[in-house]
Amino acid sequence: MKCMFNICDGSGLIINKDGDRFCKCFRYQIAKREFKNTGASESYLKFGFELKDADLISKRTNSIVSMKETIKQLRNPILLFEAINNNLRILIAGKNGRGKTQMAVSMMLEALKRGCKGAFIDMRTFDNIKFQDKQKQDLMELVKNKQVLILDDLGVERKAVDEFQVYKNNLLDGLVRCHRGLIIITTNLSKNELEMLYKNDPQLHSALFTKSWVSYSLMGEDRRQETPEIVNCFL
Ligand SMILES: [Zn+2]
Repeated sequence: MKCMFNICDGSGLIINKDGDRFCKCFRYQIAKREFKNTGASESYLKFGFELKDADLISKRTNSIVSMKETIKQLRNPILLFEAINNNLRILIAGKNGRGKTQMAVSMMLEALKRGCKGAFIDMRTFDNIKFQDKQKQDLMELVKNKQVLILDDLGVERKAVDEFQVYKNNLLDGLVRCHRGLIIITTNLSKNELEMLYKNDPQLHSALFTKSWVSYSLMGEDRRQETPEIVNCFL
């Protein structure tokens, strides 16, 4: 792997006559390696410092805070391990295209830099889940022994009520219960709307909502409009 700061030879070590020391890139390399096991798309492999900043509303203080500063808080190992040990739930709400998923992944990367393991589950893929134990086992395996779990676009799997609903609910319940640690949830619903969606399922509701919570709302414009249009060469 190349040194992202162009300091070392990519090994993460700086070797000189006074002795070896770790390069600034060392923890980033650890995180990048572990990222491959999270199930998140490579396109989200961006650390906080690589992002364009955005405004967030912190529901706890009811004030506007910086997204990058919020991600940076998890660089503090005391805060990070407190969040993991207390099974904290971080809710990132906001309309589509505000960068919720990126923020969640960049937060997870801070944990990976500290040697933690993470899992990413896109709740939209729940619609493709049928009664197949293999899929269930794979997801359970993904979540097991991970300190950080991202549930991306939570609530979306409840919108299409179908014959698999009970199965999907049980699966989500199983995943949340078998996970010990920090859960980062992204959603385009408010926390109240989310709670309403799960209120008829007391077991899942309590697994999701009775732990300690931090909640943010992403403001700003739809960031997808900023990416240049991709020309479809097949047209
Ligand atoms: Zn380096």
